[in-house]
Amino acid sequence: MTMEMTVREIVAACGGKLLCGDPDTMVTSVVTDSRKVTDGSLFVPLKGEKADAHTFLHAAFASGAAAALTQEHTRMEAEEAWIAVDSTQLALQHIAAAYRQRFSIPVVGITGSAGKTTTKEMTALALSAGYKVMKTGGNHNSQIGLPLMMFQFSREHEAAVVEMGISDFGEMARLAQVAEPKYAVMTNLGITHIGQLKTQENILREKLHITDRFTQGSVLFLNGDDPMLAGLRGKTGYEAVFYGTAPWCDFRAEGITVQGETTAFRCLAPGRESVEVILPVLGMHHVLDALAALAVAERLGVPLDRAAAALGDYRPLAMRQQIYHVNEVAVIDDSYNSSPGAAKSSLSVLAGFRAGRRVAVLADMLELGEYSRQAHFEVGVCAAESGVDILLTVGPEAKAVAEGARSVRSGIDCRVFDHNRQAAAELKSFLSPGDAVLVKGSRGMHTDEIVRALLQFP
Ligand code: ATP
Ligand code: MG
Repeated sequence: MTMEMTVREIVAACGGKLLCGDPDTMVTSVVTDSRKVTDGSLFVPLKGEKADAHTFLHAAFASGAAAALTQEHTRMEAEEAWIAVDSTQLALQHIAAAYRQRFSIPVVGITGSAGKTTTKEMTALALSAGYKVMKTGGNHNSQIGLPLMMFQFSREHEAAVVEMGISDFGEMARLAQVAEPKYAVMTNLGITHIGQLKTQENILREKLHITDRFTQGSVLFLNGDDPMLAGLRGKTGYEAVFYGTAPWCDFRAEGITVQGETTAFRCLAPGRESVEVILPVLGMHHVLDALAALAVAERLGVPLDRAAAALGDYRPLAMRQQIYHVNEVAVIDDSYNSSPGAAKSSLSVLAGFRAGRRVAVLADMLELGEYSRQAHFEVGVCAAESGVDILLTVGPEAKAVAEGARSVRSGIDCRVFDHNRQAAAELKSFLSPGDAVLVKGSRGMHTDEIVRALLQFP
């Protein structure tokens, strides 16, 4: 089912001015990429630092757009609907908010420094045992991606799970106005994006704006194993449900065991019989993400055993801990992204591989501002302590990872590289059957290139 909004409704939602065209024109999709325009689209040209999509306005209409926003307020005469606004990005958010308000289904917002997409996927899966769920596609969590997701809502949906990511002040407040989550999950508070937000306190304060549209009955789900989030106990003005391994957590994982490439645990929930959960993935971070999913599903009325069973079908997303076996070498592809917390949890997964040598390829973690050196050093300490045999670093910042590792074990085998292809060539020269190799780095480091080289994809 496609969306439908008239130009009149769009103008009202964004407070724009219709420069020309028919206000009764029906819009059936909203796009920011002129190449994705189809008949009936509203084209939203965004102005970025490098490019201004206003240059594609005519191309968009040629491709069948029914209407377009523009920051040019000049009078004009045309058949098509041109809507003048001050900021196309803000207008997109207002239009998305107006559209979302047509649906009175529970919306769950997922935020946190790491694990948003994973938790979003798991929560949608657990909820799907009781609801027809709409979820954010891929990673669309930004000031532009989240609003675009709102147009995916349709009458058939009974609940929605959306990913909400921020990197600067004011951003979460705007996202909350758009998606209006009545339930929210905060996965953890690392130092991702500390570049702009400066301190963890600022990050916490900003992320808490996810509750701006909370109403009676709203719940914030918090990872109790995260020290800063645990500090919110008793301090939120609304109901908070904590999940984690700490004994005081409401939703708790007990008896975590790893078998081959699956993780099993018992989920203890207040006033409910505990349930067995079997996840076909490894690592404590996945246990926490699954607990969040179970806590949300249970609160929304899905029986815990059915939600737990649904999680058994979880499959890791591309580049997030996919494990390949090539020539008897286990390649752990965790190349999607990295941050200090994520790198440490992945190192603990690598530590579980004991057939041969444990090899970690760790590339730069970006956007850490003044914390960068220290954070990289600490990841190196963790690598050495978790039993990495051979450490390869890629990039200028990751040199500090090698220093951190050497500070724990001076003789540790560290090999430092500037480029992915050098690291890949090195790996190919020494990997042998039984070895396990973890590949991790920030998205901007494109460490998936190393994985592809190891798998000999084209
Ligand atoms: P992005 O900011 O890029 O959208 P994200 O928050 O959506 O990232 P994911 O894509 O789910 O995060 O996971 C990225 C990496 O974070 C994973 O590969 C994993 O290493 C790590 N991760 C997942 N869940 C957690 C968690 N609960 N705590 C710490 N690290 C986690
Ligand atoms: Mg994500």
